[in-house]
Amino acid sequence: MTKQSKSIQDQTPASAEVLVPGRRRVLEMMGMAAVALPVLGLQACGSDEGSAPAATAMDKVEPAMKDVAAKAEKAADTMADSTKTAMEDMSESVESAAEEVQAEVQEAASQAQTIATDAMAQLDENGPQAMGLGYKHDATAVENARYKSGQQCSNCVLFQGGSSEWGGCPLFTGKQVKATGWCSAYSAAS
Ligand code: SF4
Repeated sequence: MTKQSKSIQDQTPASAEVLVPGRRRVLEMMGMAAVALPVLGLQACGSDEGSAPAATAMDKVEPAMKDVAAKAEKAADTMADSTKTAMEDMSESVESAAEEVQAEVQEAASQAQTIATDAMAQLDENGPQAMGLGYKHDATAVENARYKSGQQCSNCVLFQGGSSEWGGCPLFTGKQVKATGWCSAYSAAS
């Protein structure tokens, strides 16, 4: 392998499998040039007419070699460009797939959260936990000096049920409070 062909190979990523035919073509051109040079040189040296014809033959070989080298260089550039484009396309595909997976994971987590919330038992307003904080399922039935009209779990910052009728509340772990409920720890959502 010549120094030049080795250099071209070094510039070409091994992962560009799709470019093998083009690469083979470049190597063939280099091989033909490598064969042509000594043959033409020998013909010229073996001539009975002396060194002048040999110099003429070399004058013909030199441009041919330059032409082959130029074509090889151009082909190598083309392969490098194609490889870069292929790698960029691949990178975009991987990024897109990762975004899809992330979206699916978030959707699954959301569904799991919903299922877990639905599975929680409803808070017993007559239980010690609820009575300790003056909780009632119906906020309007509350008799507590802190209560103000319009306040209820659904607009409390701690309510985790969103627009659902029932939802979690960190003050009553493992239980659901009613959207229309209220307790003395109420804090308006901003
Ligand atoms: Fe309802 Fe808020 Fe009291 Fe929880 S803290 S029970 S959400 S009023």
